[in-house]
Amino acid sequence: MKRGGAPTRPHPAALRWRWYERMNDNTLRKSEAEWLAELGPERYRILRQAGTERPFTGSLLDVREDGTYVCGACGNELFTADAKFESHCGWPSFTQPEEQKNVRLLEDRSHGMLRTEVRCARCDSHLGHVFDDGPGPLGTRYCINSLSLNFRPKSP
Ligand code: FE
Repeated sequence: MKRGGAPTRPHPAALRWRWYERMNDNTLRKSEAEWLAELGPERYRILRQAGTERPFTGSLLDVREDGTYVCGACGNELFTADAKFESHCGWPSFTQPEEQKNVRLLEDRSHGMLRTEVRCARCDSHLGHVFDDGPGPLGTRYCINSLSLNFRPKSP
């Protein structure tokens, strides 16, 4: 094309792609009815209604193997096994997420407390809370429900 000439018009398919790209913010949205059907009532109460499992009851509390903890609702990779530590608080605890962008932190003033809620950044499901008394250099303790997670052992 000559310099100063009319700009080339993008192909209509390219326009559609760019529209799609703008809409695709990498989040996953489902209706609450879909979530309930998929997760079952117990997990739904925790993940979608910000419930809390009873302390010292979670299936992942004593897991020590190497692997990755993913979101129980959408499979987003959230925590690695090397960030897990024994906090004695009754829920699986991690010093930090695998990547900060994979979680979303929100102010939570429920139950007469000021806490910071942790949600999956991809599907917006409730994971737990983060506190500032952790043992690592960042000082954070991610206190996460077992029911909000699935554990994927590292393949040998
Ligand atoms: Fe998720």
